[in-house]
Amino acid sequence: MHEVGDLVRADAIVIGAGVIGSSVALELARGGRDVVVVDKGPGAGAGSTSASSSIIRYSYSTRDAILTAWEAAQMWFDWEAHLGAVDPDGMARFIECGNLILRTTGYDGTAITPWWDEFDIPYEDLDAATLAARFPMLDVGKYYPPKRLDDPAFADDAVGELTALYSPRCGFIDDPMLSAKNLAYAARLHGARFAFRCEVVSVERDSVGVTGVTLASGDSLVAPVVVNVGGPHSRIINEMAGVTDDMAIGHRALRQEVFTAPAPVGLRLEDGAPFVSDLDVGQYFRPQIGGTLLLGGSEPECDELHWVDDPDSNSDYPTVEVWETAMMRLARRVPEFGVPSQPTGLAALYDASDDWVPIYDRSSLHGFFMACGTSGNQFKNAPIAGQYMREIIDATMGGHDHDAQPVQFHGAYTGQMIDLGAFSRRREKAVTSGTVMG
Ligand SMILES: Cc1cc2nc3c(=O)[nH]c(=O)nc-3n(C[C@H](O)[C@H](O)[C@H](O)COP(=O)(O)OP(=O)(O)OC[C@H]3O[C@@H](n4cnc5c(N)ncnc54)[C@H](O)[C@@H]3O)c2cc1C
Repeated sequence: MHEVGDLVRADAIVIGAGVIGSSVALELARGGRDVVVVDKGPGAGAGSTSASSSIIRYSYSTRDAILTAWEAAQMWFDWEAHLGAVDPDGMARFIECGNLILRTTGYDGTAITPWWDEFDIPYEDLDAATLAARFPMLDVGKYYPPKRLDDPAFADDAVGELTALYSPRCGFIDDPMLSAKNLAYAARLHGARFAFRCEVVSVERDSVGVTGVTLASGDSLVAPVVVNVGGPHSRIINEMAGVTDDMAIGHRALRQEVFTAPAPVGLRLEDGAPFVSDLDVGQYFRPQIGGTLLLGGSEPECDELHWVDDPDSNSDYPTVEVWETAMMRLARRVPEFGVPSQPTGLAALYDASDDWVPIYDRSSLHGFFMACGTSGNQFKNAPIAGQYMREIIDATMGGHDHDAQPVQFHGAYTGQMIDLGAFSRRREKAVTSGTVMG
């Protein structure tokens, strides 16, 4: 077993070394646990984390989700302080570019701004004239609802003009995989051990609770705590552990294509271009280093969702059909955009939950925990998700019933309490945008 050697026993096993798994490992190790992380991939962050658009924003639909993102952002703002170390292999960087949220039907900001006011999250309210003047490269017409390319109404004229919210403290992380490596580096400094190319094939239990895992190699790891942070594979791991019985919220792998395209003048990072949430046409785009734009979809009703039962069967290659749609939608919004001649991008998997809110929780099997259902929107929350899991694990292993009395997390920056019951596997579906925006 690679790197594992004599580590047959541990206090906690973390399955998955993505950005969230590495964060969980860091926090559990900081808490004094002997932690072993097993990942079937080649290194930290090589799973869905490596494909992340890594956007940091605060535009969720519920109080606890907004607070979570704002608290986590403080950790990205001072990454070295959060890690308590400088990784000699390089540090991920937060690039602030602001977020322009085009207000449209069903996504008009009314669920968001009262919380931003309460938590002092800065923003500006832009009327149509100000929006057009501040962002002249954008066509501010209202094209809602988003349409497929083969819809004859795709080229219809705009019906009215949009207004917007501008959230200046948003941005993105320049290298999502490096951020996972940074967390793994910091976790190692606290004694955590990482074993790559080690696939968990079975979760072991006795009459009391979880006892460990078995790897594809046949090796067994023994621990009283096992945390499932398997990303798009986490549903399979929950099934392996037999813990789906009492889950009210489902989660499964959803294919998502993300593209890059040349950024026209005015929309490059050096032009001060923002990340734009454009649910009016059904996508988002942001500038990135190197003069390009990164584009992803926002699951408009007209687009078919591609659920994937076997995450290992997913092709990394994007499709011409989704690419063409993304390019033509962008061309609607950015008249100066020159559609490139061939697709550049990737296809990866979200682990989408029923309500697009993550599951950070215990399970019906004592000692088995899950950080999953991250719904294409939890990269930004990875640093705090590790802390959430540590508090849930400490409380549960100490005899507290987190299901009956959800742990309340103290937000270090805002001083607000965050109800971790909001991320329970047994919650009622949260009222959200029903998209990756959460
Ligand atoms: C295309 C895309 C764009 C996104 N954009 C954003 C964004 O802009 N902002 C944002 O906040 N979030 C975004 N997200 C979501 C975010 O990236 C994910 O929520 C986050 O990276 C998940 O991290 P993770 O550690 O849970 O999972 P992963 O990074 O997927 O890691 C899971 C790990 O588990 C391992 N594993 C799986 N099964 C086993 C097994 N049986 N045994 C051992 N190891 C196993 C895998 O090898 C993998 O390394 C995006 C996601 C995608 C796919």
